[in-house]
Amino acid sequence: MKNLPVKTLTHGDLTIEGFSRAAVQSYWRIPELKLGFDLGAHPWDFMGTPNWFVTHCHMDHIVALPVYVARRRMMKMDPPKIYLPAHAVETVHSILQAFTKLDRGRLPCDLIGVKPGDEIQLNREMVVTVGETRHTVPSLSYLVWQRRNKLKPEFAELTGEQIRDVRQSGTEVSHEVRIPLLGYTGDTRVEGLDLTPALYQCKILITEMTFVSDDHSQDKIRKNGHMHLHDFIDRAEKFENELIIASHFSTRYNYHQVKKLVNAAIPDSLAERLHLWL
Ligand SMILES: [Zn+2]
Ligand SMILES: [Zn+2]
Repeated sequence: MKNLPVKTLTHGDLTIEGFSRAAVQSYWRIPELKLGFDLGAHPWDFMGTPNWFVTHCHMDHIVALPVYVARRRMMKMDPPKIYLPAHAVETVHSILQAFTKLDRGRLPCDLIGVKPGDEIQLNREMVVTVGETRHTVPSLSYLVWQRRNKLKPEFAELTGEQIRDVRQSGTEVSHEVRIPLLGYTGDTRVEGLDLTPALYQCKILITEMTFVSDDHSQDKIRKNGHMHLHDFIDRAEKFENELIIASHFSTRYNYHQVKKLVNAAIPDSLAERLHLWL
């Protein structure tokens, strides 16, 4: 059922689905990873995704949280896990209680407060780390890492049997290697990228580019905690990502204006990996 706009893009074996415009609403999910980012609105079809990561508490990133929880309960799905900035947990909990009072429906969910530096073990293959971003309210970035157990280099020459013997003697033969898979920043000044350098290295980066035209003051953009096309150009060398999704464009631009201004200014090295999400 279609109740909200959703754009879809496939990269490798991952599907990215979402929508994001400044002050309107932001919501994203990667169904294969069973997780999503921000709850500014909630497409009906997104309810099957059980883990959500909220970056900050501006309404266009969180207001659909009660709707999502209610739908899961109504459809007899397990209570979802919702990770959000730690300072917000108590307030969101009382908002849910207030809705329960009005609606008379329980809103079962696991609200988990997180802060920069935290690590969330999603499962054996995946871990999510929490980073700091810079916005007008406390805000976070999230980075999904793939975990793999790799044989330590000092054992690379051994046969399978020898490795088994070493392992049986109680020595750890492998170590965990983490590959940065997908990063998401929500709203932030460009420092939000600099503060977590792995965001420049992850395979897929989903971030914001709220402003693209030259007629905005850089000071005002920074004060409002957002990024401009210029920030991407200034840092063009740093982006090692296979795919960079720029989103959260201001409503003052339409698709053609964004495309024209970005294409005219962006270096080729970035242009081929940059996807404008609108
Ligand atoms: Zn926003
Ligand atoms: Zn915001």
